[in-house]
Amino acid sequence: MRAVQVTPTGLEILDVPVPEPGPGEALVKVAGSGLCHSDCMIRHSSVVFLPDGGSFTIGHEAAGRVEAVGPGVPAGVVGREVVVHAEYGCGLCTTCRSGHERYCPVIKPCRGAGQGFDGGMAEYLVAPARAVVPLPDGIDPVDAGPIDDAGLTPYHAIRTSLPWLEAGSVAAIIGIGGLGHLAVQILRAMSAATIVAVEPDPARREFALELGADVALHPDDDAGARIKAMGTDGASLVLDLVGIDSTLHLGVAAAATRGKVVCVGAGLGQYPFSMITTPWECVLQTTYSGEAWELAQLLTLVEAGKVRVRTSHIALDEVPDAYDRLDRGEHGVGRLIARP
Ligand SMILES: [Zn+2]
Ligand SMILES: [Zn+2]
Repeated sequence: MRAVQVTPTGLEILDVPVPEPGPGEALVKVAGSGLCHSDCMIRHSSVVFLPDGGSFTIGHEAAGRVEAVGPGVPAGVVGREVVVHAEYGCGLCTTCRSGHERYCPVIKPCRGAGQGFDGGMAEYLVAPARAVVPLPDGIDPVDAGPIDDAGLTPYHAIRTSLPWLEAGSVAAIIGIGGLGHLAVQILRAMSAATIVAVEPDPARREFALELGADVALHPDDDAGARIKAMGTDGASLVLDLVGIDSTLHLGVAAAATRGKVVCVGAGLGQYPFSMITTPWECVLQTTYSGEAWELAQLLTLVEAGKVRVRTSHIALDEVPDAYDRLDRGEHGVGRLIARP
């Protein structure tokens, strides 16, 4: 089968054997696999995941159909349409057993499909059976991959921030890309907060309003001060889906006293946290993905029609060029999906 692999010298489309599911694993025929901006970092850092060299298939937003299972997995799983949850721990340590498998201290650095293990940019992939989450009936697996990662990451951040979202609250979402367009819908479905989308691209601001945002602002249009003037004291929750210096500063400027700013985006920017630059008792937090059990919760919102992934499709051959465009910041609207 063909696979887009991260090699020590960059991305290559290679012929590789169809994998065999081992004990506790499922073989998934990939229907579609989302291109995530963090793949641009992953494709240049194979040694981070595989210090001894070697290659792996990229793509951590895959969905498809279970074609076979290994020993120890119920045969009834075969034939199910599933989303592959792309973060695995050892499954056995205290962290994993308490439901936080992506922070497993045994498997380091964080590994999963498309992140050291073979991912979704191929015709087939193998994953632990506990990481393949059944899709509700009527949801097309071609477009379902981004519900993991692009959907799950903001879902976890919002779910764990619900105490900050009361009636009359203001919530800001910075960056309306792959994650942002899902974050708006999830926030709309889970809270009564006034939602402010912050995004430089006019088409994406319009898109955010279509998806349920109440207000859409250009970041350079004094967005921090304008949000701070809303509600009682600004945004009780800010989700920064970009994570560069300017968006972190904007997020804190918009945040309320006793508010919360969550850095979701992997922009690796910095903010000078201090007593006089940060609102009183404001929580600054990072976050990373979510868990398979949260993905199952999020899929109930998808099933109810409250969350939908906006996608466009490409072939596997087009994937390396598409990542080059993502690297140059040419994102478009919604999520790009490769169909192997
Ligand atoms: Zn991602
Ligand atoms: Zn573990």
